[in-house]
Amino acid sequence: MIEARGLTRRFGGTLALDGVSFEVAEGAKIALLGANGAGKTTLLALLSTLLTPSEGGASVAGHDLASDGAALRASIGVLTHRPMLYEELTPEENLRFFARLYSVGDAGERVEELLRAVGLWLRRDEPTAVLSRGYHQRLAIARALLHRPPVLLLDEPETGLDREALELLDRLVLHAPGLTVLAATHLRERVASWADGVLELERGRLLEGGEVAQASAAAAGAAR
Ligand code: ATP
Repeated sequence: MIEARGLTRRFGGTLALDGVSFEVAEGAKIALLGANGAGKTTLLALLSTLLTPSEGGASVAGHDLASDGAALRASIGVLTHRPMLYEELTPEENLRFFARLYSVGDAGERVEELLRAVGLWLRRDEPTAVLSRGYHQRLAIARALLHRPPVLLLDEPETGLDREALELLDRLVLHAPGLTVLAATHLRERVASWADGVLELERGRLLEGGEVAQASAAAAGAAR
């Protein structure tokens, strides 16, 4: 479902990602690990077409990064450090706007279903600006799922979530049957509870040569 082939990205003299190759099977949930600056955000930005590779290529849901960007973007849900929400709009207006953008057929029903699912139904008419960070994150999760994408690319999705919201994330995303997930995280101790496997970056290179490692190994790493 996700295939990276020698993905490389430079920023001036900095080699942020260095010949990264791996495959993620349909429905797999993969944790992307690595220290600050290891290249996780850069990899996710390349796979979601927010950045272009300096070398190498990739495909997501069968769509090539270079030649099929629009179809690729329609097939992914993205959660990044930037919430990509309109602060002056309400949660409901935000989701309705993105539903139009993604041509979601049953927009009214889908928006209500997701607002209820992430616990924002009763706050749907407040300006997004007044919502706490955790509620912004809940809304961003709803937005990422809105068009029912088969693949979710997530950058530290747990950030700012309380226990109830973490349970929502687990149910809606990290344990969702059939959904393919690649999620950068620093929470190694949680990885074994949701991930089928891990990919670990170190200074722009994948450890294990791009083989997806067992999630239990990451848990062992957390215990060290
Ligand atoms: P973190 O855990 O801190 O989020 P990360 O694993 O996501 O880190 P990246 O943000 O991908 O790491 O950064 C990888 C390297 O690329 C770092 O050395 C970073 O400084 C550099 N880098 C990333 N984006 C840019 C940019 N726009 N311009 C210059 N350098 C960049």
